[in-house]
Amino acid sequence: MEDCLFCKIARGEIPSNKLYEDDELLAFYDIAPQAPVHFLVIPKQHIESCGKIDGDNSAVVAKAFELIAKLTKENGLESFRVVSNCGEEAGQSVPHLHFHVLAGRSLAWPPG
Ligand code: 5GP
Ligand code: ZN
Repeated sequence: MEDCLFCKIARGEIPSNKLYEDDELLAFYDIAPQAPVHFLVIPKQHIESCGKIDGDNSAVVAKAFELIAKLTKENGLESFRVVSNCGEEAGQSVPHLHFHVLAGRSLAWPPG
């Protein structure tokens, strides 16, 4: 999508600190980290949120979780949290599906 921040990052129009990139997925560090390790995994394809996952796009979501397993393993993260805020009330500020990966400190439950 033309005006979507994460579509622009996926197209390379806005720079990011990348951990991983392929044709379908991008992983990059969050600009405002909430833990010692905080990166985002996004599909390059514009999907608005978890609420828009369906049979036509779920394959890339499965690949995103495979990538999370690979990157956390490669970075020696035995304990981590995966979060996706879906909708404004849940804290979603960028309407392009993304999975936060947080690690490196004790994480409280329930989240705020
Ligand atoms: P949300 O609030 O939608 O769950 O997550 C959006 C995340 O994107 C936030 O954690 C925010 O810090 C991050 N973010 C917003 N703009 C940028 C940016 O330009 N670059 C990077 N790397 N992260 C961003
Ligand atoms: Zn987008």
